[in-house]
Amino acid sequence: MKKYGELKPSERILMGPGPSNVDPRVLRAMSAPILGHLDPEFLEIMNETMELLRFVFQTKNQLTMAMPGTGSAGMETVLANLIEEGDKVIVCVNGVFGGRMLDICQRLKADVTTVEAPWGKIIEPEQVKEALEKTKAKFVAIVHAETSTGVLQPLEEISTLCKQYDAMILVDCVTSLAGCTVEIDKWGIDAAYSGTQKCLSCPPGLSPVTFSENAQKIINNRKSKVPIWYLDLTMIQNYWGQQRAYHHTAPINMNYALREALRIIYEEGLEQRFARHELNSKALKSGLEAMGIKMWAQEGHRLPMLTSAVIPEGVDDLQVRKYLLSNYGIEIGGGLGEGKGKVWRIGTMGYTCNEKNVLLFLTALESALKEQGYKIETGIGASTAMEIYSKKS
Ligand SMILES: *Cc1c(COP(=O)(O)O)cnc(C)c1O
Repeated sequence: MKKYGELKPSERILMGPGPSNVDPRVLRAMSAPILGHLDPEFLEIMNETMELLRFVFQTKNQLTMAMPGTGSAGMETVLANLIEEGDKVIVCVNGVFGGRMLDICQRLKADVTTVEAPWGKIIEPEQVKEALEKTKAKFVAIVHAETSTGVLQPLEEISTLCKQYDAMILVDCVTSLAGCTVEIDKWGIDAAYSGTQKCLSCPPGLSPVTFSENAQKIINNRKSKVPIWYLDLTMIQNYWGQQRAYHHTAPINMNYALREALRIIYEEGLEQRFARHELNSKALKSGLEAMGIKMWAQEGHRLPMLTSAVIPEGVDDLQVRKYLLSNYGIEIGGGLGEGKGKVWRIGTMGYTCNEKNVLLFLTALESALKEQGYKIETGIGASTAMEIYSKKS
């Protein structure tokens, strides 16, 4: 008879595009006793989770909650609840996740116009303006932090344009939320979604979403039913809202995890958290550049939680990643789509984002690159990063 051993996953340093490492407090919360999904204690946990989500999203939106499923479930929730067949939608595509939004909009049979930028570059507001003028679209869908390229998309100007042209702006905040400024209300974002396993530093499994009052009205006045039963907010809002009407069973212990992850963020403070991401990202990027490694994303628009670094000529992508994992327990991401084989994606997200990990990574990478015959001055990456840290304190 085949024997199945005890589950013993290795300790990893997760410096890829997600999942990120999880604070032990979050894992402890997950192992708390399970409650019934309509237990008054669980309902209170849901209420507090909604409050904390409003805090990280910086919003007063009533319809703010955590959907079951990963970030892509949030993407589908936002798009499928708001868009109806034939609706005019502008989708901004400059990476994999913009492409995924486009795919979903097409499946929803929307009348789609794409606005594209080369991978590694931002979408320019002027491009969106032109498309709005031409199409009079009802929705603009855009990614805030494009994890496939490492680009941070400025949103304020595009959001203002959407207001001028009477379009709603729907934003992917999967990677940006809790890692850099996300101001749903101040920026006038109509709907947004995220995922638990990036800068929220919680295991994958839930997808926070938020909808403005206007967006909620659109959902509740649809001509047709939401095409996906499981993600239909016209029903789910009654479960997370006052009525507590059963729709599906909430993933109880995942909600414990999210509440604890959010509580940790609340204790740290958003400004401090963003500053921590800025500092570690700066140290990492400076260290890499000192090693002769170039950044892929457009200067001035680089993500603080994900660095896309161009793989040096003659260096074997897979060998380096294997070396990091087997010798140092460090995981980084390979390229996606156009970045495949061309870049590494190095995450400094949430709990993973600290000086110790950055310095270890730079040292480990040096060793991996030397193994490949790549010439680097010994210690130059880590010492350059350390200079950034010492300036700070
Ligand atoms: C990770 C990611 C997603 C998809 O999330 P999953 O959890 O993998 O479903 C969507 N958008 C962006 C920008 C992401 O980084």
